[in-house]
Amino acid sequence: MGDLLATIQSHSNPGVSHKITLGKDGVIYCDCWAWKRNRKCKHLDEYYESISKVDQVTIEMDEDPMLSSDPSLENAVSDAIRDLKGN
Ligand SMILES: [Zn+2]
Repeated sequence: MGDLLATIQSHSNPGVSHKITLGKDGVIYCDCWAWKRNRKCKHLDEYYESISKVDQVTIEMDEDPMLSSDPSLENAVSDAIRDLKGN
């Protein structure tokens, strides 16, 4: 069997969940009948949606302008350099 990537709760049957797994062939599987029939299903869509949201959050954090242009941080760095030079 492949690696379990996620467990998606069924909307039509509360209490039922479907397993999203990555097979050794690189194919992402779902264990519901719709996937077996069409090789796609709403659980897989939900899984892709959940990982794309995680990516967006990561990009927002990387592009945070506050981190690169914090004047107090710049002052602290130049103070440290001055201390090192002994001035
Ligand atoms: Zn499914």
